[in-house]
Amino acid sequence: MARILIVDDSRTSRKFLRDILEKNGHEIAGEAVNGKEGFEMYQKLKPDIVTMDITMPEMDGLDCLKLIIRYDPGARVIMVTAAGQQQKMVDAVKYGALEFMSKPFDTIKIVETIQKVMQSK
Ligand SMILES: [Mg+2]
Repeated sequence: MARILIVDDSRTSRKFLRDILEKNGHEIAGEAVNGKEGFEMYQKLKPDIVTMDITMPEMDGLDCLKLIIRYDPGARVIMVTAAGQQQKMVDAVKYGALEFMSKPFDTIKIVETIQKVMQSK
């Protein structure tokens, strides 16, 4: 069981992730709608894992990832990617992201990725 912070500007994506993760025994520590809120909530909630959308208003997922890793080098962050974001995926690895989940979501892949990340670090 992991406590997970979902950072995504799409209400539909947040709900989809919450439903799948809760169904698989995980706890949603919180939901943030942009990178700025995501970083604030990370500091407050200290989740085990963050799922981080890339494209968001105010502060995107890459900038939020950088802040989180600077604040907590042991943070476990999974980037949520869409088609055509290969360069951003390369950057995310460089900044310390551990794994990726792609949109549209694949339920089995999501559950497996959370397990894999829980076992790392
Ligand atoms: Mg988005």
